Amino acid sequence: MISEKDLGNISSLVSLADAYITCRPEMPCIVSTMFNCENQAIPTMEESSIEPTTETPVTAAATTPESENTSFFSNISEQNQNNHSALQNIARKIAICDRCRLCGGRTNTVPGIGVPEPLVLVIGEGPGADEDAKGEPFVGKAGQLLDKMLAAINLSRHTNCFIANIVKCRPPNNRDPMPDEADACRSFLDAQIGILKPKLILAVGRIAAQNLLNTTTGINKLRGQFFEYRGIPLLPTYHPSALLRNEDLKRPAWEDLKKFRTRLEEITGLSFSAPQQTQSSANTQYRNEN
Ligand code: SF4
Repeated sequence: MISEKDLGNISSLVSLADAYITCRPEMPCIVSTMFNCENQAIPTMEESSIEPTTETPVTAAATTPESENTSFFSNISEQNQNNHSALQNIARKIAICDRCRLCGGRTNTVPGIGVPEPLVLVIGEGPGADEDAKGEPFVGKAGQLLDKMLAAINLSRHTNCFIANIVKCRPPNNRDPMPDEADACRSFLDAQIGILKPKLILAVGRIAAQNLLNTTTGINKLRGQFFEYRGIPLLPTYHPSALLRNEDLKRPAWEDLKKFRTRLEEITGLSFSAPQQTQSSANTQYRNEN
């Protein structure tokens, strides 16, 4: 006789196996530490920091209410499992979507990656060549920098964030998504937001900010201010690709991230000045085959 608890554990293990199967050598994750995978190169704070060298983030010990909870499996809630299933369903719909012309040029759809119950949702523009090839958002140099930006305020796609884009298919030649393409794809993002229920949204780059805020105002004016999308506080900042092109933008981007961290701490009552000590769930890539 299989108990309800056993069923829950089996479901959790299947979820972990999903994440393990989609694990990539360049992407360390919580699953790696549980299955003796060699992929354990979790970036250090020094490596992950993007702030100017004259100012370093505070690294006081975390004092979160969750820090006493040491059981990984006890953190995987029924809600977490429900979210995981719902996100997989959306990924399947995206995989066969032909609502806009972008379906014709894609190699893979890119639904998103992260944990099923994130504190933060990061929204970018759309897949580039690397993302299209891998079916995963924010890979390559811009993705690595995004991970460093998030790590600087103790956020990660592996523990407490979900990363998605305005459009789920690659625009040709990395052009901006057209308004009708963004409109056609919006219901997928909105459905993801309805499931994820993030505490905060970080919109990276002009395209994400303008689409979500329904404005033509430039990113230089939008960045660093809080707005709302579907009732969720949203902060626009620069896209990591812009930071790679222009080092001078790193200072204002770091100011934005500190503002974002402060609001997150106010909302959650948690400290993000030091690494979070618990994992809420395994990171999962919502690929076509899920
Ligand atoms: S970009 Fe979005 S709406 Fe367009 S084909 Fe891809 S999934 Fe469908």
